[in-house]
Amino acid sequence: MDAAEFRKRGKEMVDYVADYLEKIDKRQVFPDVEPGYLRPLIPDCAPQDPESFEDVFKDIEKIIMPGVTHWHSPYFFAYFPSASSFPALLADILCGGIGCVGFSWGSASEATLISLLAARTKTIRRVQSENPELTEADIMGRLVAYASDQAHSSVERAALIGGVKIKNVSSDDKFTVCGSALKKVLDEDKASGLIPFFFCATLGTTPCCSFDRLLELGPICNKENIWMHIDAAYAGSAFICPEFRHLLNGVEFADSFNFNPHKWLLVNFDCSAMWVKKRSDLIGAFKLEPLYLQHHHQERSQQCNVNMWCKFLHNFLTRVYHLKGACPYHLPYLILFLEWVMLICVCCGLTPPAGKHHTAACSPSALPLWDGGENQGNEACGLR
Ligand code: PLP
Repeated sequence: MDAAEFRKRGKEMVDYVADYLEKIDKRQVFPDVEPGYLRPLIPDCAPQDPESFEDVFKDIEKIIMPGVTHWHSPYFFAYFPSASSFPALLADILCGGIGCVGFSWGSASEATLISLLAARTKTIRRVQSENPELTEADIMGRLVAYASDQAHSSVERAALIGGVKIKNVSSDDKFTVCGSALKKVLDEDKASGLIPFFFCATLGTTPCCSFDRLLELGPICNKENIWMHIDAAYAGSAFICPEFRHLLNGVEFADSFNFNPHKWLLVNFDCSAMWVKKRSDLIGAFKLEPLYLQHHHQERSQQCNVNMWCKFLHNFLTRVYHLKGACPYHLPYLILFLEWVMLICVCCGLTPPAGKHHTAACSPSALPLWDGGENQGNEACGLR
């Protein structure tokens, strides 16, 4: 494909995507094909000779689309909204065109892992400087991380990868972790010789979008030399609205913070933004400088190469949507959601949920919200 054909096909593809999104409500949300449906529809081996672009293009509707779950359908209610927008799609073309390798650190799960590993290194160095007789293995065996019993499974996985213990801190009746719950488990663990080193607070938990109490938890973590990471993967996007920003109070105590603009900020998958309070903590933990990666601006850019790309893409979007535009996008969403919850509660004789659960509601699997049919795939899941 040369530049002339790229222009032609590019326009066709833009038309196809625009048509797809304009008429997405006419499509069945969840595919009714079985896993493996694709196998007999595609050749057994790669073609010896090139095929025409027209033929490849036709296969999108014939072969690919029957297996697609349409996340952007107005009838798709599972997981998170998978934010996207026309400016984000255009920015993606540009990113693809520039084609730089961002050395991305990836997703919210990886942000938690990276911060846990940085906290581990920091704590081992501190404890060793205070107790030079202890080996790294001695200290590793006593390290313990904490997260809410509502935290995302990636926190537990980060501890597994990091080779450290992890404990759940019990949440209260509003599914939030408060200072006294953390303090209790810390006191017990310290008394039995463990070394608490990492706490992952969640702003917007996966099961029900609850918010841990940063103003209580932060000072405890700071006093106890515990790295506080904030996982705001989903709800973080909402802080663009001043109305939600009070939920961030206490963020100043955090050592690291992450959110996924691709979940709810009109950026298509995937874009995860991470902040670290003291960049040397992170850089110091992973410093490897092979000759082939060294360059003149080492110190300035070491923070994280991918940051540049996130910021770039984000700027692109913010310029089109601007702050005043993004807030009106979030607020009606929330109002619609609250109306929906009230409707469900009234229809099913349920008590409306207490607390500020933002835009997440969980229904028991027996609740007949949908009667099967074309929306089968959405039934009985955490609905956002
Ligand atoms: N943390 C929370 C609170 C989430 O809701 C999710 C995903 O839904 C994740 C982490 C994982 O995000 P990622 O897929 O970017 O790793």
